[in-house]
Amino acid sequence: MVGLSIGQDIGIQYGGSARVLGVLGSGGQGTVYRVDFHGKIMALKWYDIGKISSPEEFRRNIENNIDDGPPDRRFVWPQFMTEVNQDGEFGYLMELMPDKYVQLTDVISNFRQVSDPLTGRLNSRPVLFSSLYANLTAAINIVSAMRELHRVGKSYQDLNDGGYFIDTDTGDVLVCDCDNIAPEGCNFGISGKPGYMAPEIVRGMAVPDVQTDKYSLAVLLFRMLFRADPLEGSRVLGAGVLTENARRMAYGNNGVFIFDPNDASNRPVAGRQDHVVRLWEFYPQYVKDAFIRSFTLGMGDPSKRLIESEWQQLFIRLRAEILGCICGAETFCVNDLTAAGRCRCPACGREYAVLEYNNNSIKAPIYCGYKIHVCELDPLFGNTETVVGEVVENRLDRGMPGIKNCTPLVWRARLPDGKVYDVVQGKGMPVWSGLHIEIGNTRARVMQPDVRHI
Ligand SMILES: [Zn+2]
Repeated sequence: MVGLSIGQDIGIQYGGSARVLGVLGSGGQGTVYRVDFHGKIMALKWYDIGKISSPEEFRRNIENNIDDGPPDRRFVWPQFMTEVNQDGEFGYLMELMPDKYVQLTDVISNFRQVSDPLTGRLNSRPVLFSSLYANLTAAINIVSAMRELHRVGKSYQDLNDGGYFIDTDTGDVLVCDCDNIAPEGCNFGISGKPGYMAPEIVRGMAVPDVQTDKYSLAVLLFRMLFRADPLEGSRVLGAGVLTENARRMAYGNNGVFIFDPNDASNRPVAGRQDHVVRLWEFYPQYVKDAFIRSFTLGMGDPSKRLIESEWQQLFIRLRAEILGCICGAETFCVNDLTAAGRCRCPACGREYAVLEYNNNSIKAPIYCGYKIHVCELDPLFGNTETVVGEVVENRLDRGMPGIKNCTPLVWRARLPDGKVYDVVQGKGMPVWSGLHIEIGNTRARVMQPDVRHI
C-alpha cells in the first residue's frame, strides 16, 4: 500500500474533503492521519486494503455503525466514510483523541515513548495512574462501555489494550478502534491480538463474538490489575520463544492460569514475576475468585465467563472499599479490618470508621474525599458515574469526618437515640456512633465511628 501524502485531499462521502496534515500512527489494518475537515482537526483511518478480507462488506458494516451511532459517549465512533479511490481504498473520519489520554498499552507497561520535537529522539516517560481509585474507575469505565456495546447486540471482536485510551488522573476512558465492531454473528476477518484471543479462537474453532469478548475482557482486566499475562507462568516462559504450535498449546488447547488453585504447573517464576505475586496477595479474595473462574472454568466453557454486570458490581465494590489514608497509603478495607470493625491503615496505623449498606456487601472506609456513587447504593444500577454523597471534614470540629448530601433528594439521618433529622442538599452530618442514613430506599450504617483522622 502507498500511504497518503501530506497535503493530499481525500473526498468524503456525502460531500467535502479532508486535507492530510500528518501521520498519527499505524496498526495492523492501516494508518491513522491527522486531517483538516472543514476547519476542524480530525483523525482519518485509512485502510491497507490488502489486509481486509472482504473490503465491501467491511465498509458496509462501518456505514451501518455510523448510521446506528455509538452505544455511549465513551466510544470514539466512525463519523464519516471517505469516498473509495481508484484502487478501491477508503477510510473513515473520527474525533481526534484528546492529548491528555494515553493508550492503555502504555499504562500497563508503565511508560511510553515520546519523540523529542527537536531531535526526533525517543525518550521514555513514566505513565502511572494518579491513584488506585483512578485505576479502578478506569476498569469500571471499560466494563460498562463493553456492557453498553453488548446490550445493543454488537461485539468488539478485537478487544485488547490498544483499543482504550485513559485519563490516568480521573480514570476516564475512551474506546477507539471501533471499526471491527459488528452485530453478533458477523465477522469480517479479524481474529484478535495474541494473548487476548479466547482459546476457541486460537484453536480455530470460533470467530470473535460476545462470548469471546468476555474472555478478552477478563485478560484486559487481569493485566490492568496485575500487570501480567494470566497464562504466562513458568511453563510458558520456560519454553523460550513460542512456536506457532507451542502458542496454540499454551493459549488454546491447554492453557493454565498462573494462579489456578488446582494446577500449580504454570506459577509465576520466582525472581522474575514477584510483582505479580505481590499484587495477587494485595487484592481481596472476591477479586481473585472472579479471575480464577474466568481462567479455569471460563477457559473451556464460554457460559462460565463473567458477564459485564458481574465485573461492574465487583469493581464498584472494590473501588468503594479503598481506603485512601491521609498519610498517602492506599489499601482495601477487608485487608485491614480490625477486630472492632474499623479499617486500619497498614502504613501509619490510623483507624477509620466503615460505612455498610443494607443491600450489598460493600464495606466502605469513611475517609475525607470518599465519594458515594449511586451505583454503590444500588448494585444493579447502570449509572456508574453519578455521585450522591461525599465525605468531608467537619468545619467546626477539625479532623472529624462528615457525610455530605450531594443530591436534591432529602436524606434522613437517624441517630441511635431514635431522633431523625432531614439532611438537605449541600448539608452534611457528622459520622456519629450508630448513625443510619436513609437515601431513598437504601440504608447505610456507620460502623465503629468516633474516629478522628488527624
Ligand atoms: Zn495511613
